[in-house]
Amino acid sequence: MSEIGQDLAQASRELEQLGPLDAAVAAIDWAIDNYDDDVVVASSFQDVALIDLVRKARASIEVVFLDTEYHFPETLAFVERLRKVWDLNLTVTHPEVALDEFPCGSARCCEVRKVEPLAKAINGRRAWITGLKRVDTPERADAPILGWDANRGLVKVNPIATWTDEDVDRYLADHDLPLHPLTYVGYVSIGCAPTTQPISEGQDPREGRWPGSGKTECGLHV
Ligand code: SF4
Repeated sequence: MSEIGQDLAQASRELEQLGPLDAAVAAIDWAIDNYDDDVVVASSFQDVALIDLVRKARASIEVVFLDTEYHFPETLAFVERLRKVWDLNLTVTHPEVALDEFPCGSARCCEVRKVEPLAKAINGRRAWITGLKRVDTPERADAPILGWDANRGLVKVNPIATWTDEDVDRYLADHDLPLHPLTYVGYVSIGCAPTTQPISEGQDPREGRWPGSGKTECGLHV
């Protein structure tokens, strides 16, 4: 492991000693203290708790939303609503391809609509903050709070990595935060419209994303 990787691992281990909320606040403060305006938040706007935490730490922090142009209208309206209410410093990225070029389900769709726009949005920054949680997928089970994103060459901060779904629900309730409107009609994990479906009670939340495809990641968190 590189020297920077070792330092990050040590700092991450120290954050792990804190409770979920304290660790998240400390991780965000750590990122801002170390990287100032060179830190950017990438948000799906399902992670409203994360946006609330970062905006309270620094109101001017840049928040990036990746508009794949396949989102539900409700998602776009929700993003705009929070931008206005919280006066977010929001950047919305768009793919550089037409809708019928690499359509949903094609091999490069996530790459051209998410991975490449994210790479441009964080290019030149020294750290990015994500809403990744260990409970999201088995592939994320070992995600550190702080780590080195070797593919992109910057620090990756996952403030709510250790949070459970109950931690998220508690934070949302305690702070009276809004929920994505589709949450009220059975959607749990909400991504692009063609690859997201509502789930029934008792169903694994992951069955609501990329149903039947076996896919669990879009390439942002590799
Ligand atoms: S989730 Fe589906 S529609 Fe969205 S970028 Fe990936 S493949 Fe395309």
